[in-house]
Amino acid sequence: MQSLAFQRCFNHAAREAVARCPECKQYFCRECITEHDDRVLCAACLAKLARKPPIQRRAFLQLWRLAQCALGLLIAWYFFFLIGESLLKLPDSFHEGTLWHVNWVDGK
Ligand SMILES: [Zn+2]
Ligand SMILES: [Zn+2]
Repeated sequence: MQSLAFQRCFNHAAREAVARCPECKQYFCRECITEHDDRVLCAACLAKLARKPPIQRRAFLQLWRLAQCALGLLIAWYFFFLIGESLLKLPDSFHEGTLWHVNWVDGK
């Protein structure tokens, strides 16, 4: 494998290469390479990536956000439903302040 120092840019033969694109395995100069999602890509590969996945990803993200909203509402509803249920189940003696006189072992 040749050292990066001796490589020339794929687009500019006169320029020294600074990085290698992981997608097309070509060397590129500072001007031709860009950072995208913590990855260093050449302009051509970036354009290729930008053309397809983002639309899919955006649709998925919207769907995911919608699902999260629905799930959040469901959890909130269930939470308050359980609170209501447990409040209804409280014996009258709780409100009368006589709850602590009840013999819990015998049930009454
Ligand atoms: Zn590339
Ligand atoms: Zn270049």
